[in-house]
Amino acid sequence: METLDLIIDFHKNNPRQGPGSQQSTIKALQFLPQLTPQSHLLDIGCGTGAQTMVLSEQTPAHITAIDSSKEFLALLKQKVLQQGIANRVTVKEMDMEKLAFAPESLDVIWAEGAIYNIGFSRGIREWRSLLKKDGYLVVSEISWLTPDRPQLVDKYWTDVYPEMGTIAEKTAQIEEAGYIPIAHFVLPESDWTSHYFHYYETNEAAFLERHGHSEDAQALVEENRQEMKHFKKYSAYYNYVFYIMQKRETK
Ligand code: SAM
Repeated sequence: METLDLIIDFHKNNPRQGPGSQQSTIKALQFLPQLTPQSHLLDIGCGTGAQTMVLSEQTPAHITAIDSSKEFLALLKQKVLQQGIANRVTVKEMDMEKLAFAPESLDVIWAEGAIYNIGFSRGIREWRSLLKKDGYLVVSEISWLTPDRPQLVDKYWTDVYPEMGTIAEKTAQIEEAGYIPIAHFVLPESDWTSHYFHYYETNEAAFLERHGHSEDAQALVEENRQEMKHFKKYSAYYNYVFYIMQKRETK
């Protein structure tokens, strides 16, 4: 099995595929104006739809949820059908690098733990043209919480994600890309531990069993364990941050 397929298999039965929670999605939503049934919200990199379902419960908006993983989307489609909301939640396979929406057609673009795939600075620039005038972009993005940090933690993340930046750097990028930074907040640690890592631990044995304890499966489990250890030790230095921004007119 390819590494990406293994990663998808590891994550698909977990409630979410990245740090976050229902409470954090609702908190971010509170910075937006009231949405209506005419509002169109695009959920990019929806995974199996943890936040899609919260957004559909909390707003009357039409939601289009897109992801590149057929397997994740199939699970979200099931949830949408079970909840009887297929009339206002559309689930589609689409690449976030090639979003097929008309310019200025979206009221809100939402992306939890997903914009890193295209890179924060590229994502906020490219997606802006799809937003209606005064539309909102809401993303969660891994960020440094301090201007300085131990060399080890700095190297770990810079190797994984060279665009890693502080909240001040991200806010400057938001302004440069043509948005008003409306708000930001740091996710609580429980969004990692209880809502994300907890499932690493509970699903590990079944995952290894499913893959006959293959070398690749064991390597992925080991990587996950390192990720958890790293967070436990260094969470004072980094976290996911929700950034809520509004499209502004540019000169
Ligand atoms: N938003 C979900 C959550 O928080 O549970 C999923 C977050 S997961 C860390 C990142 C998601 O981005 C995955 O579902 C992955 O399949 C998706 N993804 C990666 N590259 C993509 C691309 N080029 N286009 C669309 N989705 C992509």
